[in-house]
Amino acid sequence: MLEGCNLCPRNCNVNRSTGVLGFCNSNDKVKVAKVSLHHWEEPCISGTNGSGTVFFSNCNLKCVFCQNHLISSIGIGKELSVESLSGIFLEQQAKGAHNINLVTPTHYVPQIIEALKLSKSKGLNLPIVYNTNSYENIDTIRSLAGYIDIYLPDLKYFKDKYGIKYSGAPNYFMVASRAIEEMFSQVGHPQFDEKGLMKRGVIVRHLMLPGLLFDSKKIIDYLYSNFGESIFISLMNQYTPSHIVSNYPEINKTLNQKQYEALIHYCLDIGILNAFIQEEGTASESFIPDFNLR
Ligand code: SF4
Repeated sequence: MLEGCNLCPRNCNVNRSTGVLGFCNSNDKVKVAKVSLHHWEEPCISGTNGSGTVFFSNCNLKCVFCQNHLISSIGIGKELSVESLSGIFLEQQAKGAHNINLVTPTHYVPQIIEALKLSKSKGLNLPIVYNTNSYENIDTIRSLAGYIDIYLPDLKYFKDKYGIKYSGAPNYFMVASRAIEEMFSQVGHPQFDEKGLMKRGVIVRHLMLPGLLFDSKKIIDYLYSNFGESIFISLMNQYTPSHIVSNYPEINKTLNQKQYEALIHYCLDIGILNAFIQEEGTASESFIPDFNLR
C-alpha cells in the first residue's frame, strides 16, 4: 500500500519506500511524537487511568488552527519499527491504560495493522480507538474492520469553502461523512462497561470555530438525521487561535461562549440526548500536549 500510496483522498500515488514524499510528508516508517496516559479525552475514553494515546507525526490535512502543528506540520517525532510500535501498545496496557488511542493515524494504517496483529498475538486486549480528522478513503477505513473498536472521528466543516480555506481539503464534508458512515457500519451502537467506559461505538467530535454557528448547525442536523442516538456527539469549545491564524482575522479569536451555548441549545431543541459538552476555560494552550518525544 505504501509503494503507490493512495491511503487518503490526497491520492498522491507515491512510493513512500523510496523516500518520495506525498502531501503528508511521511515515508514508510511510522513516526511518533508522544505516548502518554491522556486524561483529557471524553470521560468514557479517559476514565480514571487515562487513555493510552499514541500521537503520530505528520498529517494529511493542513489546518491553519491546528493545536498540534509541531507534530502535524513540522513533523517532529521518532521513527519506529512495527515491532517497537507493537511494544508501545503492550506497555500502555501494562501501565493501566483503558484503551489504545491512535491519534492522527491515517497515513500509517498499514503499519498500525501489522503492529496490532503482533501485539494482539502477545496479549493486547484493550479496545482500540481510531482518532481521526476523517479525511479518509473508504477503502482505508474498510481495511481496519475487526481491528478498531471505537471510532473517534472529527466532523469539522459542512460547507466546502471552509474545508478548502482552513484545512486545504476539497470535498471535506462529502469525504468525511462517507467515512463516518463506514465506521458506524463496522462498530455499530455504543457499548459501555459497568464503569461507564466505552467498549465499542462512534463519538463524532465537532470543534466549533468562531463565527461558524450556522455551519455547526448543519453538521448537527446531518449527524442527528443519519444516526439519531446511535452515536455520541462531542461538541468542543476549546478552539485556541495559533500564531498561524493571524492571516485569518475572522477566526483569530477565541470562541464566543454565547455561540457555543446557542449550539448546545440547538442540540437540545432537536432532541439530542447523547452528547458531550465542555465547560468554559478550555481555550488554553495549557491543554495542548507537550510534544517532548517521550
Ligand atoms: S497518506 Fe500521505 S502519501 Fe498517502 S495519499 Fe495520503 S497524503 Fe498522500
